[in-house]
Amino acid sequence: MAKPRVLITGGAGFLGSHLCERFLAEGYEVIAMDNLITGDIANIESLFSTADFHFERRDVTEYINVAGKLDAILHFASPASPIDYLELPIQTLKVGSLGTHNGLGLARAKGARFLLASTSECYGDPLIHPQPETYWGNVNPVGPRGVYDEAKRFAEAMTMAYQRYHGLQTRIVRIFNTYGPRMRLNDGRVLPAFMPQALRGEPLTVFGDGSQTRSFCYVDDLVEGIWRLFNSDELLPTNIGNPNEMTIRQFAEEVIRITGSKSDLVFKPLPEDDPKVRQPDITKARRVLNNWEPKVALSDGLKNALVSFRDRLIAAGELDA
Ligand code: UDP
Repeated sequence: MAKPRVLITGGAGFLGSHLCERFLAEGYEVIAMDNLITGDIANIESLFSTADFHFERRDVTEYINVAGKLDAILHFASPASPIDYLELPIQTLKVGSLGTHNGLGLARAKGARFLLASTSECYGDPLIHPQPETYWGNVNPVGPRGVYDEAKRFAEAMTMAYQRYHGLQTRIVRIFNTYGPRMRLNDGRVLPAFMPQALRGEPLTVFGDGSQTRSFCYVDDLVEGIWRLFNSDELLPTNIGNPNEMTIRQFAEEVIRITGSKSDLVFKPLPEDDPKVRQPDITKARRVLNNWEPKVALSDGLKNALVSFRDRLIAAGELDA
């Protein structure tokens, strides 16, 4: 019998590449699509020798087509770091809106199940804490993060419309801060900033006074949650993340501890609209995803991320082996 086939947009990105691996391991033929503006071919290089893996360099905001059958589309293409939104505001808006529309259209044409990568940014700078899926959020549409937040909120609305109007099988995951191997060096997010700084012995750039909170999920826990959601019957958005909340200052101290660095902290201005708190309420994920629960402790996950960052800094000649 022919294997099921999945298209993963953003397949050369951090999360996309981990999903390519998971779907291959689950017996899928995988087509990864990426325009490589924030993705990196190095993330999927090891998969090129796999007969069931294919890569297409393509911008999903243009018309997309895939020859042959498709059983699933995972829409993970998007800039994902606040610095990227500032540099790529139009692309961020287009991939969340036009890219989602193209993916939904293709899913409908092929009779494929469509899973949207949405985000905790839908909750903006939240006034309810922790954030359950029933909270509608507090987003500034015209601030610097609005291009991402509103694109993803539009993407959710569009996905629900295809589900309700066309009867398409859709799933929506709201992803909270996730970390692990293959995050892009210098992508501006907090771990890709802190870990290389710690490894080079430079001060860690804490924004604001570091009292803002985040809750960090290891990539393998996220991928397991997405796999379960994909296979579940849950049609409404579902939070996936780790509720282990901490301040950014505590996070910086943990990175220094794990890397064994002697770095200090240096305080920089807080970016506009930076959420003050963020913690997923995962009550629903536990219930609908067969008792799914994040399992990887922050210290273990950071050690794995450390190997990935160190190897790449060595390869770039920025660190001695
Ligand atoms: N942050 C920081 N220093 C950095 C990069 C980020 O203190 O060099 C802070 C940022 O202000 C935010 C948190 O770390 O409060 C997480 O930022 P990130 O860009 O990773 O993603 P966000 O959760 O804001 O989308």
